[in-house]
Amino acid sequence: LVELKDVNKHFGDLHVLQDIDLTVRKGEVLVVIGPSGSGKSTLCRAINRLETIDSGEIRIDGQPLPEEGKALAKLRADVGMVFQAFNLFAHKTILENVTLGPIKVRRERTSAAKERALALLDRVGVKNQAGKMPAQLSGGQQQRVAIARALAMQPKVMLFDEPTSALDPEMINEVLDVMVALAKEGMTMIVVTHEMGFARKAANRVVFMSDGQIVEEATPEEFFTAPRSDRAKDFLSKIL
Ligand code: ATP
Ligand code: MG
Repeated sequence: LVELKDVNKHFGDLHVLQDIDLTVRKGEVLVVIGPSGSGKSTLCRAINRLETIDSGEIRIDGQPLPEEGKALAKLRADVGMVFQAFNLFAHKTILENVTLGPIKVRRERTSAAKERALALLDRVGVKNQAGKMPAQLSGGQQQRVAIARALAMQPKVMLFDEPTSALDPEMINEVLDVMVALAKEGMTMIVVTHEMGFARKAANRVVFMSDGQIVEEATPEEFFTAPRSDRAKDFLSKIL
């Protein structure tokens, strides 16, 4: 469903993505892990075309990433993204945050979009907050709304870039639980996270990135119990 072939990206002198080859099949959950600055966010942003790449190829569902215009808007709908910072629209209600994309981009009728939004908010456990403004919600609740908002676009794949790293500890699990449920329902997911519990529960594969390269690819079990590379061993000794 998501294919990267020989992808390279530079920021000036920095070779931030180096010959990245990666395939994520439909229904697969891939966890991306690695030290700060290794290129994890850049990888996610490239898949959503928030960043361009210098060479190589990225395909979603067999189609190369579009350059611009309507096709790009369609791609952004197909590839849902949840970031570290809860980037909800601050001046819109929770419900409006979830209905805006479907109405504006997918041209859904307001009533249908609302109905689906409420069902999604229910699914992530914040339906009773629908009329509130984002600032009135906790970080964990806001992040669950961000997931509902991405799902409202009926994406083919969901990208999560450290979705729990800005949360207070007691809120991390409420967000991870929603993500685990999503994984169990068969959503294709690429998740940048250092949450080992999530990786063990939900991931099919773990990719370890360091200095712009994929250094290691393994099952969660293999990776966390017996990492092969020195860089992965070193990294794990610091986070565990
Ligand atoms: P973290 O764990 O801290 O989020 P990361 O693995 O997500 O790190 P990236 O955000 O992808 O890392 O950044 C990789 C490298 O590219 C870093 O050295 C960063 O400073 C650099 N970088 C990222 N975005 C830009 C940009 N727009 N312009 C220049 N350099 C950038
Ligand atoms: Mg990052």
